[in-house]
Amino acid sequence: MAQKLAAGNWKMNGTEASLAEVDAMLAAYPAPGCGVLICPPATLLDRLSRRIGTGPIATGAQDCHMNTKGAHTGDISAEMIKDAGGAYAILGHSERRTDHGETDAIVNAKTAAALAGGLVAVVCIGETEAQRDAGETLDLIGTQLAGSIPDGVSGQTLVVAYEPVWAIGTGRVPTLEQITEVHDFIRARLQERFGADLGGAVSLLYGGSVKPSNAAEIFAVANVDGALVGGASLKAADFGAIIDALQNA
Ligand code: PEP
Repeated sequence: MAQKLAAGNWKMNGTEASLAEVDAMLAAYPAPGCGVLICPPATLLDRLSRRIGTGPIATGAQDCHMNTKGAHTGDISAEMIKDAGGAYAILGHSERRTDHGETDAIVNAKTAAALAGGLVAVVCIGETEAQRDAGETLDLIGTQLAGSIPDGVSGQTLVVAYEPVWAIGTGRVPTLEQITEVHDFIRARLQERFGADLGGAVSLLYGGSVKPSNAAEIFAVANVDGALVGGASLKAADFGAIIDALQNA
């Protein structure tokens, strides 16, 4: 059985003042009925992790280098993420695939490094609008899944986020039928590759313009175990409403 997870990706947003939003989330959700994760910018990971302490919100990074150390200016390793209190790493977000030219092979190597370093890997996949219009969505998702996820994962250490590129930060959301089709496909592919139990235990998140107003209907879709949330994770009130919807799903 996959764990329910509400994951926030703060992207390149947030400074010291933003930590007050997490204080409000901790006050509102002392014992949430689902997993809650916040991935702040790297500059805040240590501060945020210390602030949460043993509280019920996990923290993570938005990337993880494929090597353990060395001459990689600006990058951070799995060991550094753990040292800063993080337990998760987002890998292969479409913004990194686009801005930094990350291929499936690179995402695969980064995911392997995150797992070897003891982190839970949140691997992102998703089609562009042109790929959807060309009828290539499932082919592309199958290719990204096969290419971005290394062997040797477990249901507890892998999370897959389906994020249609055209829905990220745009306010546009696929239909529930479209989400169902892709999530069912991902579940089937994971079970084919890793077996029914392990493939069934991987949390499948939907990401792309999730908001308080649409969260409940998205969480009602079979094989949607939660959400990866960008903009709406920055404010305690909005992210709290999404946590509420997931708890009640
Ligand atoms: C994201 O960046 O992972 C994301 C889903 O962003 P938003 O919720 O803002 O669309």
